Amino acid sequence: MTGKQKTIKERIELEDIGTFSGQRTRIVLCPADPGEGMHFAQISGGGESRIDCLTPLVVDSEKCTTLGNKDGARVLVVEHLLSAMYSLGVTNLRIEIHGPEVPLFDGGPEMFHQKALEAGLVEQEADTAELTLAKPYMFQDSGGFIVAFPAEEFRVSYLFEHPFDSRCMQAVEVVIDDQTYRSELLKARTWITDREAEIALSSGMVKYGSPETTSTVVSKASTSRPLNYDDELPRHKVVDIIGDLSLLGRRLKMHVIGVKSGHRFNHELARKIWADNPLVS
Ligand SMILES: [Zn+2]
Repeated sequence: MTGKQKTIKERIELEDIGTFSGQRTRIVLCPADPGEGMHFAQISGGGESRIDCLTPLVVDSEKCTTLGNKDGARVLVVEHLLSAMYSLGVTNLRIEIHGPEVPLFDGGPEMFHQKALEAGLVEQEADTAELTLAKPYMFQDSGGFIVAFPAEEFRVSYLFEHPFDSRCMQAVEVVIDDQTYRSELLKARTWITDREAEIALSSGMVKYGSPETTSTVVSKASTSRPLNYDDELPRHKVVDIIGDLSLLGRRLKMHVIGVKSGHRFNHELARKIWADNPLVS
């Protein structure tokens, strides 16, 4: 059974300093018509450049997910915003962005989710498109793997070794719907180790954030911020998988299993799926 397309009722403005650029960034989420899809409109110098939120427009996935178009416009850190919108069933959204990246806030999807609910959601007179798989897909390298099996629902499983204790395996499995997203994933924030944080800041890769700030990518999960869940780290990987695979542009019916995988794996998997199942508009 297909559902209805959705957008938000009112505009939402959000602003913070970008983690990678160190620049103040403002985004404005705006209602969009049925069939418009999820897309960024990057505003600069009086003009704007449209970047559709679709797998073929992923141009970098080293530390976060970056979308770009053929005119050279780029938007970094799209994954938590898109993950939150997918969980709410939002399919049409114009995201005006004044700056190079989506603000990180606390490192999870909660701010975007909360603001969208405050603005209100509206069902539209058009059915959603669904993506079902006819066969499994897989991407692997020496570090890990990710696989997507055909399924009747969207289920995500993730398994990895804890970064501070390799004897400790953590695993999560969530059937993705509005309720489970709120109860299992909403407060799962991004993380890197203190050592990685030092390197990221001193090398200039990350220009904003510290273990003491709330708007940060650089917090050791164990000490500088109390965990929201015992297994917050793998739960955040599930948040990322949802945001990254939402770029397939449809409601997903598949069981995705990631083992020590990250953004690059997500997009390599998505490209394989897209090659056999392109979005036809
Ligand atoms: Zn993330």
